[in-house]
Amino acid sequence: MISGIKIYKGDGTLKQEINQAEARELYNETNKSAWELSPTERRHWDNMTVKETQPYEYKGLRPWIKRSYKWNKQYKLKCIMCKKEMIKANSKALICSTTCKNAHLREVRKNK
Ligand SMILES: [Zn+2]
Repeated sequence: MISGIKIYKGDGTLKQEINQAEARELYNETNKSAWELSPTERRHWDNMTVKETQPYEYKGLRPWIKRSYKWNKQYKLKCIMCKKEMIKANSKALICSTTCKNAHLREVRKNK
């Protein structure tokens, strides 16, 4: 069943109206080649369709991994080097800063 065809322009205005009889004539089996895509044309249009990609895997992103680490644990500890109080997320932290860390390493090497 073919009804009348209305062809619209890109902006939505009516470009052409084909009535039912004309439409039936257009889509007649006898002139099928006029409106059916040839195999090469079909392949061309099939290639135009965007294949569903896996964007996250493609980009190497895994959104299910939460990357913004929340600093919700705070431990009040004392630095073993400068004896200052520090707040760390790790309860087993011993040293406050890199300068203290370097000093600590130096001392460890001395004691060896
Ligand atoms: Zn320190």
